[in-house]
Amino acid sequence: MIGVLALQGDYSKHKDILDKLKLSSCEIRYSHQFNEISGLIIPGGESTTMTDLIDRNGLHKDIYSFSKSKPILGTCAGLIMMARIVNDDRVKPLNILDIEVDRNAYGRQVNSFRDKLSVSISGKFENVFATFIRAPKINNMAKDIEIICSYNNEPVAIKQGIHVGLAFHPELDGITLFHEYTFVKQFNEKSYAA
Ligand code: GLN
Repeated sequence: MIGVLALQGDYSKHKDILDKLKLSSCEIRYSHQFNEISGLIIPGGESTTMTDLIDRNGLHKDIYSFSKSKPILGTCAGLIMMARIVNDDRVKPLNILDIEVDRNAYGRQVNSFRDKLSVSISGKFENVFATFIRAPKINNMAKDIEIICSYNNEPVAIKQGIHVGLAFHPELDGITLFHEYTFVKQFNEKSYAA
């Protein structure tokens, strides 16, 4: 069962992707629900608002503790929330990915765009068309971060340990490979290697 943090943003679109992959999912709003899931998605939306709602629902510690043993996929505002440092005091990031992030680094809503990305995942290369909406940029990252995909020489999809962070929105273009990798493939690959 994969949980989608459903406080704000485009969480329902992630359910569609999980449905496509035949992974069962539920919406997460309360602390007690973290026992019931084996992975979490932090969707896109507005990281300032998400910070307030995570605080109000008392979920900051729950998400952080969950990340110690279970995979989290963050997209756009979700990536911002997973960072260690964000260039905006109103955002209280969760410190799950050892990265520094600039919000809205590509400009305003009118500067949102869709473009081709070359993704390197599970030893394979794939091209996808992905959507960037007031996307963040990763301007600093720890050495053990793996880059899954860059766009104009900027890392836009990264992985650290079992967690994956994306500056764009695969859920808006029906792209399943990042969800599949985070919640299924990386674990199959590990057990295969072992
Ligand atoms: N700009 C938003 C933020 O800072 C993120 C936008 C998005 O999730 N598409 O939270």
